[in-house]
Amino acid sequence: MKIVRFRSQSGEKLYGAFDPDMPDEARIIEGDIFGDIEVTERVERIEAFLPPISPPNIIALGLNYGKHADETGVKYPEIPVMFLKATSSVIGHGAPILLPAAGPAEVDYEAELAVIIGKEAKNVSRSDAEEYVLGYTCANDVSARDWQIHKQKKQWARGKSFDTFCPIGPYLVTKDEIETPGCLKIRSILNGEVMQDSNTSDMFFDIPAIISNLSCSMTLLPGTVILTGTPEGVGFTRTPPVFLQDGDIITVSIENIGELSNPVKKE
Ligand code: MG
Repeated sequence: MKIVRFRSQSGEKLYGAFDPDMPDEARIIEGDIFGDIEVTERVERIEAFLPPISPPNIIALGLNYGKHADETGVKYPEIPVMFLKATSSVIGHGAPILLPAAGPAEVDYEAELAVIIGKEAKNVSRSDAEEYVLGYTCANDVSARDWQIHKQKKQWARGKSFDTFCPIGPYLVTKDEIETPGCLKIRSILNGEVMQDSNTSDMFFDIPAIISNLSCSMTLLPGTVILTGTPEGVGFTRTPPVFLQDGDIITVSIENIGELSNPVKKE
């Protein structure tokens, strides 16, 4: 099922079952998306997409794709490279990414497959990991490179946690619809031009490995969003570099998951 969270015309925040053939409306879901849900007959018009989840934590992996590690010129990771991204940075499909007033000039995009945890996970084995997944969505790990690398002395979380720097959506796709999350085409598209074009099969650490590894040191709470890393083709490694500008539209597209688009504006 594709589960969308949205604002209706009357201003209600609702969960609904989404059908891509009818992208302007949803059938209302009642219940707890981490427990039992019921899809009702009530249909509402989607006024605005909201992030499909309000995560208690956002955990992100760096350098998890082989060709992306190559383009940044760093050694391949021996263990997952993990950082936290502020939950206050989350926005939904269609909401603007704001170029911060604080002045970073090198705001970059990163297409990522996001995993949404469905139930508390602690000390989970690789073979049991999928049991703890609720579903998947698209994410953009927006990153101010000048802050991430230079101005904040490699404190990645500073450059990656500005407000609006974590678009997720447009909706959550439950895991039963995605047979092979480790083999999905993943792309980013800037103003119609394909910038990243890869496959999740290029990950060093696959999703079961990531869940098992992270859950040995922290409880993964229901709703936790895990960003699984980005493939090659990001803006700062290009010649000349490409950074997001006022008026741009950046889209993350993942096979069988969806297309997450956000305009870029000055704060
Ligand atoms: Mg990233």
